[in-house]
Amino acid sequence: MRVLKTDPLRPDPGVIDAAVRTLRRGGIVAAPTETVYGLFSSALSDEGCERVFRAKKRPRDNPLIVHVDSLEMAEEVGHIPSDIAEVLRRVWPGPVTVVVRSRGVVSKCVTAGLDTVAVRAPAHPIPLAIIRELGAPIAGPSANRAGRPSPTAAEHVIEDLNGEVDLIIDGGPAFLGIESTIVDVTRRPPVLLRPGPFTAEELREYFGDIAIPPYARGLAEADVAIAPGVKYRHYAPETPLVIVHFELAEAVRLLRSRGLRVAVLCAAGKCAEADGALQLGESLYEAARNLYGALRSLDRLPVDIGVVPALEEAGLGLALMNRLRKASGRREARTPEELLRIAEALL
Ligand code: AMP
Ligand code: MG
Repeated sequence: MRVLKTDPLRPDPGVIDAAVRTLRRGGIVAAPTETVYGLFSSALSDEGCERVFRAKKRPRDNPLIVHVDSLEMAEEVGHIPSDIAEVLRRVWPGPVTVVVRSRGVVSKCVTAGLDTVAVRAPAHPIPLAIIRELGAPIAGPSANRAGRPSPTAAEHVIEDLNGEVDLIIDGGPAFLGIESTIVDVTRRPPVLLRPGPFTAEELREYFGDIAIPPYARGLAEADVAIAPGVKYRHYAPETPLVIVHFELAEAVRLLRSRGLRVAVLCAAGKCAEADGALQLGESLYEAARNLYGALRSLDRLPVDIGVVPALEEAGLGLALMNRLRKASGRREARTPEELLRIAEALL
């Protein structure tokens, strides 16, 4: 396994070339995108795709997102309705993935045998240069071991996939820190499958009306047929995490009174004295950038439990609450009594 460093905004052509040669022979490459680090194979290669699933230990029925460098390349991969193509002309490259009918040109392994395909153009010079040089789409989920928090830095990829990947491109931190927004445009109105940096408010501005099912908020398991992959455990630290809807100081006091050592993930101006503190940042943008790094750090703190304040489910807050619900296994305390019940179950 090689690790090559490059400037994310002006990627070294030698590094891009190394990635392309690796992909051409069915190899796998981890590289940053504007959302999180991806683990890429050629979308046309069964062998490369198999290796992605194996390296991540990803369940086989959880399809990969196909990354393209243009709307034209997306149209070779899937059937893009003309009104949707008009929207994509304006929002790509960017963190919006659309699920469309597949043309069956990408490996069946990539789509997990579905007749639909998820596709997006990433707004990051490194993957864009790789796709352009390769002249073909690349398939890539996040470059973490399945179930773990997504990697937002090359070190996270090394932590999870050391030895499993042919090449890691270290292009510094991912710009946004959480995965792309996924919207299923095979249905009308389009259905939000996963909230992300392109907010629901922005989606409505560009796509018109959209449906937001409870699982998009992280509140329920999805029907496999509707949103593959959503049923799996995601983004989870080893340390139990609880989303707290009331005063954090009160939550810390209660948990400590039961003999638990507590870490606080401070966000949106909410924080408290505890046995450990991780700063997500004041703005939701900072919180998104820092979330996964903080979830990884949580496991290194000598604590029994982490608490994080509930965020308002508007703007980026919708995506953050979806990730927090998955990371916490939907442990959510609306009242001190509820927190005590959760604590009792952990003791
Ligand atoms: P990841 O790249 O690890 O963030 O996961 C990609 C996610 O994209 C999967 O978990 C699925 O939920 C979603 N996805 C990929 N392909 C499809 C598809 N054809 N239909 C619906 N969702 C998809
Ligand atoms: Mg993932």
